[in-house]
Amino acid sequence: MQRQKRCFFLFALGLALTLSCGVDQVLVPEIGGVDDNWELTESKHYYLYYRPQSETAEEIKYIQGNLDYQFRDIVKTLNVTYENKISCYIYSSREDFQKGEDTRSTAHAFPELEKISGYHHQIRSSAKHESVHVIAYWTIGTCKFRFLSEGLARGVGDYFYPSLNWRNSVVHVCGRELLADGKLLTISQLADNAFFKTLYGSEELRAAFRPYDQSASFVGFLIGQHGLDRFKSFYAKANRNNYQDIFSCTYGKSIEDFEAEWHEFLRTY
Ligand SMILES: [Zn+2]
Repeated sequence: MQRQKRCFFLFALGLALTLSCGVDQVLVPEIGGVDDNWELTESKHYYLYYRPQSETAEEIKYIQGNLDYQFRDIVKTLNVTYENKISCYIYSSREDFQKGEDTRSTAHAFPELEKISGYHHQIRSSAKHESVHVIAYWTIGTCKFRFLSEGLARGVGDYFYPSLNWRNSVVHVCGRELLADGKLLTISQLADNAFFKTLYGSEELRAAFRPYDQSASFVGFLIGQHGLDRFKSFYAKANRNNYQDIFSCTYGKSIEDFEAEWHEFLRTY
């Protein structure tokens, strides 16, 4: 499935570029930052790009081992096989990263390109989260909902390790507090990508509502109750128009009934 999807993506991208550029060859995306000031080394699961003579260069062996260890935990937790290597760009500082990638964020993933990037002082904490986005994309499917993809990345990348106990995590403490404060969003609010993005985009709202954490609580409880296989199916098939029906078909109950179970779980967590 991984290879088929990659072939289709490259074919579609090539077709789009061919059409827009008016050339008759298939173009493959060039992976890289805006400059070519990179050293490259390979680990078992990553191509690591880093600035020459940087702090990263000094610690590269340790970072390699750390990222590979995290990678193995992700594929084990998701019970998937991921054959390719992920390209990981490690900028020397936050300023270097934000300038190089023309972004205001502190790390991000380009799942289609199997690329993640960040900067030296946070790459060890963010690489796992970003790698979940890439690995899930190629092994589970293209997720149409930010709350599901971020919930999974937050849960697997930041919190559930190493217990693999989806129902026992600090994200549920966060969910319980948000519920008590009247800040736990409804599923239909979470499923509104534009609303979710607005919440996350505002520092104030992000701190108040913690949208990634409450999404991780939802995802963790869903997987904890009904297993990974059904979650993967729901994750890949659900879209804005069908997610309530897909949920009912997948889980044999309405998403509203499950939402009530989730709230009850949090109340007594
Ligand atoms: Zn993310």
